[in-house]
Amino acid sequence: MNEFVTYRREFHRFAETGWTEIRTSARVAEILEKMGYTQVLMGPDAVKEESIAPVLRLSKEDKEKNMERAVKQGAAPFYVESTQGLPGVVAVFDSGRPGPVSAMRFDMDCLPYEETVEGSYPPAEEGYISENPGCVHACGHDGHTAMGLGIAKMLLDNKDKLCGKVKLLFQPAEETFYGAQSMVDRGHLDDVKFFMAVHIALTAEGKPLPSHTIACGCKDFLSDRQLDVTFHGKAAHPCGASQEGKNAILAACTATLNAHAIAPHEEGLCRVNVGLINGGVAPNTIAPEAGISIEFRGQTPAISSYAAKRVFDVLDGAAKLYDLHYDYVDYGEVPAGKSDDAMMEMVERAAKKVPWFEKIYFEGNVGGTDDATVMMTKVQENGGVAVYTGIGADTTQPLHNPVFDFDEESIPAAITLCTEVLKEIHLNELSE
Ligand SMILES: [Zn+2]
Ligand SMILES: [Zn+2]
Repeated sequence: MNEFVTYRREFHRFAETGWTEIRTSARVAEILEKMGYTQVLMGPDAVKEESIAPVLRLSKEDKEKNMERAVKQGAAPFYVESTQGLPGVVAVFDSGRPGPVSAMRFDMDCLPYEETVEGSYPPAEEGYISENPGCVHACGHDGHTAMGLGIAKMLLDNKDKLCGKVKLLFQPAEETFYGAQSMVDRGHLDDVKFFMAVHIALTAEGKPLPSHTIACGCKDFLSDRQLDVTFHGKAAHPCGASQEGKNAILAACTATLNAHAIAPHEEGLCRVNVGLINGGVAPNTIAPEAGISIEFRGQTPAISSYAAKRVFDVLDGAAKLYDLHYDYVDYGEVPAGKSDDAMMEMVERAAKKVPWFEKIYFEGNVGGTDDATVMMTKVQENGGVAVYTGIGADTTQPLHNPVFDFDEESIPAAITLCTEVLKEIHLNELSE
């Protein structure tokens, strides 16, 4: 079996959700150093913990538990210690010659479901089902991590032909919050002029991308911002002294209905959703507290700020209506984003050199959000170019399904593709 497919199965078996990817990080660093990488940054050198909202930062005890589990699950204690409880790895390929700086992002986290253990599902049949309860790689990030290792190897194999530097960013917490932001804030993208991220199983022309296809770039990222809002009212007897009560459930329900009634925007997609609601204490008590979790997305920065303004108008209005107040936890905004044509063309040229790709779509679709846009935006603001490429792969189910599995032949194909893109950027003219 292809060495990097073997790694993919290992990462699948020890799946880890956002900010707990300690075993994965330790193994990635160990494998990279064994390959010959000397600049491998981990823990606080890879990610900036202060960028994570305090409510999401792991406690010392939780970090220690993750580190203990990682060692029990076969990670080398030296590398587990080096994480200091913070996942994320940055490896720098340095050709030793002056030249451009590029970066590639590989996300490592899984989703918080139980994995199905039976049926004709390859991880179950072939014995690499997740050993971590409530953790399953249902978005292909196990494959992305393996691709990153393969690209690292190919860069070393081509070292004498290349110039400049390539940063390989193994990112935690794509599915949750602040993964990409924490690496951007650590400064890893500051000098990057070319950026690429890949994702398997996207779509093009409204259809899933099967094996042997590629979408060179996507431009349809929506921004995404999420808030947990709590309305604080006042408990009272519902008939005895109801005028004294301030009903937080009514405020939460009013806010929910009106958030869903925010008008669409003529310039593009604008989506608002309240996905969770809770509150109250008992049927005979006016609810003193109620909470909603709300997310809103926009296709452009103008639409994102329109959605934010209207959401806060609705929250303010609901609080005023029921004479109470609210507070909220803000998980930050993942921006909208677009691939650059110049880099999509580079990917197209590279794809033509990889026979596995029989059908090449210039543009594909994400149909949602990926925090790679935080990195893309940073590079673009600095005058660089970025691309987010869809690698076709036959799948058992759509992404984010607990029995999602994909054609592993896409892994070596993506490794070759990305290496071809990097070769175009970093070909050392002196060696020609
Ligand atoms: Zn996902
Ligand atoms: Zn994903």
